[in-house]
Amino acid sequence: MISRLAYLSLLLSTIVVLTDAIPAFVPVKSERSPYGLAQRRQSKTPKNLARAQQKFDEQLASTIASVASKYPVDYLSNVSDYSMWEEFQDTGKLPEPINGKTGATSIGPENVPLDRQNPDTYAPPNTDSGTVPQGKWPFSLSHNRLQNGGWARQQNVDVLPVATAMAGVNMRLEEGAYREMHWHSTSEWAYILNGTFRVALVNSAGQNDISDLGPGDLWFFESGLPHSIQSTSKGGGEFLLVFDDGSFSEDNTLLLSDFISHVPREVLVKNFPGFVNADFDKAPNSELYIFPGTAPAANDSQQVASPQGKTNSSVTYKFSEQEATQLNGGSVKIVDSSNFPASTAICAAEVTIEPGAMRELHWHPLSDEWDYFISGHARITVFAGNTNARTYDFQAGDVGYLTKSNGHYIENIGTTPVKYLEVFTGPKYSDVSLSNWLALTPPAVVKQHLGFTDATIDKLDRFKTKNYTLVPDNHAQGNQKRDLASHLVAGKRSWA
Ligand code: MN
Ligand code: MN
Repeated sequence: MISRLAYLSLLLSTIVVLTDAIPAFVPVKSERSPYGLAQRRQSKTPKNLARAQQKFDEQLASTIASVASKYPVDYLSNVSDYSMWEEFQDTGKLPEPINGKTGATSIGPENVPLDRQNPDTYAPPNTDSGTVPQGKWPFSLSHNRLQNGGWARQQNVDVLPVATAMAGVNMRLEEGAYREMHWHSTSEWAYILNGTFRVALVNSAGQNDISDLGPGDLWFFESGLPHSIQSTSKGGGEFLLVFDDGSFSEDNTLLLSDFISHVPREVLVKNFPGFVNADFDKAPNSELYIFPGTAPAANDSQQVASPQGKTNSSVTYKFSEQEATQLNGGSVKIVDSSNFPASTAICAAEVTIEPGAMRELHWHPLSDEWDYFISGHARITVFAGNTNARTYDFQAGDVGYLTKSNGHYIENIGTTPVKYLEVFTGPKYSDVSLSNWLALTPPAVVKQHLGFTDATIDKLDRFKTKNYTLVPDNHAQGNQKRDLASHLVAGKRSWA
């Protein structure tokens, strides 16, 4: 007979033994940690648990081996990294979320036109991994504010949360129409897409600038400085604005009419000596924002002589007249405070990439990058560190956003030139080239990192071309990257 006390004591000791054993056996997640292994070796595990543990280890090893044999990813040569762009443009068949050995056909509802535009989202290259925040926004999805005289639509953190440093606006004005006299707390950089415009600005020193601009030209208005914009060409025009704050909203600027209509009339009259009440009778009682107007006569430059003079450096820049730097695979024009001194907070590059060519792998140490695509089809992979990488497709009217220091390239995957703008915060354009980094590091260091031979090392270029490098299409040199036919298996592209 076991006494009740002895029974209880046995039960307790059993629990103690089991509890003791649990930490060494249960934490499967720490199996790979050296600490976990050492701890397990030292513990006084009962023999049956040790056997179970050994069996578990063997099963784990066998599962890993079998997965590895099915999906070999040890070398880059096993990874399908194609863009499915060409295949997705084949209107004879539906786009499928399959790239290389991964994926499966879609049997649910599909938005086929969007899938065709975004093959690298629907069937990403296998090099994509983990999570990179959404970095693409088509202006086509922006709410459009329709006004008498034009329209405006915007991209900011409300629609693209990752874009914290810059926001964009796309605006259209009919001939003679105005973007109302206004100001705002962010700096404004503009690129004219179509037509001509007259802009006018007054700064805190009482200096002014009244200038005419055409397609491809720029203006830069420092934060807080009041300005107006009028379309002066037949058929009107369209432009792009970039602000150095991602939370900027075009609906939250400070407008002249809004200000005037919210100050007591008595104060208004007092503020402008000599004015009488009736002078404000025809002032609008609500904001104008975008409204129709009459364009100035061709020979009327509307200059107003300021006793303080003109702004020290012009707030506008004839970027269209700057000569592009011709590069192998395309061309580039860089604008920053070195050639447009007034532009202290924004700098940019206007880039053209020939079909098959690409903007080399690089990153920007000082700023996020805000892209706007003017023509062509491009793909960008953003490498965000810690195994995270994501690829996007872009076409005319799309905005791309790349966080500071994230690695990327811009590849022309279409058959026509890609033209786009890269916009950055800060007074100076800068980038770091991956190729240049490898070329100027001791070869032994690079060889031991990447398994390169001496012959491979010799191919690296030590010269950095005017801070900007494009890589030409090297099809002709035996690069099979764009050879679609050789990778089609039963109508599906495959690496196998
Ligand atoms: Mn403005
Ligand atoms: Mn870049």
